[in-house]
Amino acid sequence: MSVRNQSEMKDSNIRQIIRTVLQQGPVSRSELCRLTGLTPPAVSGLTKILLEDGILTELGPVNGKREGAGRPPSLLKVAGKSHAAIGVEIGVSRLRMGTVNLLGKLLDTEVVEISSKTTVDDVIHRSVAFYRRQEAKLAAQGTRIVGIGVAVTGLVDTDSGISRFAPNLGWRNVNVKDLLVQQLGSPVIVDNNVRLMALGEEWFGRARNSGSIILVQVGYGVGCGIVLPKLGLLQGSFNGAGEFGHCTILPGGPMCSCGKRGCLEALISERAIVGTYLQRSLSAPNSALPVPPENLTVNIIVRLAADGDEVAQSVLREAAAFLGIGLANLVNIIQPTQIVFSGNAFALSPTTRGWIEESTYAHCFDQPKFKFSNATFRNYQGVVGSATAILEKELL
Ligand SMILES: [Zn+2]
Repeated sequence: MSVRNQSEMKDSNIRQIIRTVLQQGPVSRSELCRLTGLTPPAVSGLTKILLEDGILTELGPVNGKREGAGRPPSLLKVAGKSHAAIGVEIGVSRLRMGTVNLLGKLLDTEVVEISSKTTVDDVIHRSVAFYRRQEAKLAAQGTRIVGIGVAVTGLVDTDSGISRFAPNLGWRNVNVKDLLVQQLGSPVIVDNNVRLMALGEEWFGRARNSGSIILVQVGYGVGCGIVLPKLGLLQGSFNGAGEFGHCTILPGGPMCSCGKRGCLEALISERAIVGTYLQRSLSAPNSALPVPPENLTVNIIVRLAADGDEVAQSVLREAAAFLGIGLANLVNIIQPTQIVFSGNAFALSPTTRGWIEESTYAHCFDQPKFKFSNATFRNYQGVVGSATAILEKELL
């Protein structure tokens, strides 16, 4: 075996041990042998390296957990302190940044309001400044930052780190990765925001170890991230997987931002639901908007529906029916174990969720076996996801 192959195999075995301890821990060395298929000498040698690096920590003998006749085994778990990563999500109106440790815990966060006037250079400058501040702070605590992950809306070429088209940001062919590497010299990953949200949920969220998940984001846009057993995060052959919002649900329906008609996004996005509500409520007798039309949001419409506003109820029921059709199509093709929602109150509130679930079940081919849940990290789902991507690339 060549030296290169030996070191690749060692790297892959080390990653397998970290992953296994993270997902199944705390575990003993003999459990690690069974779970990874590695020999006892290999597990002993590799765990020694990981303990020295501070990636693993030893809990000591745990009473009540005997293996055979001997004394209780010492259990290993992942230590959160050795490494961390920076996650950045570039949203339409906010730049969210955060530091995430090896256990998926969000340590520090910062939010900056942005607008259509914010330039690419501004975003890079803010991200680099946050990285440097966190690097200095964590170095004092013995924690090393392994790199930075960046979540961008729209089409992202993950291999090159180029944001190909982010209509909501007005970006076309922005080489986010190059700009950050030039300034930081650290590993950088750039990917679609919703795909990264799904990755974070699968590694560190409530849906961890659930097998296959579809995370659906409903807000300004609509998208999904799919994580499959053994294959991991689905990127697609040309980095375009997950454009759930542009599936045709109503042929000949309303015009979508992509230039086609009847896409799911044109029916259930923030703008679509608010637009439909305004149109119907203004023509309804005795209608009285609680806020000026330009300040109306989906969250307000969901509240109105809960308070008995019939127009709000009918608009949201209709949107829920459309989303359910889309979800059932995804379920029929992918057969996930979990559907995770992220975004505004349309996807997250119990009232609308009931309607969405009803419509999904009504259109599924098989008896539904999946579970519905809400994304674990709420407004920081993209931040945790993008940091997870870089932790996964460097260590897991
Ligand atoms: Zn579309």
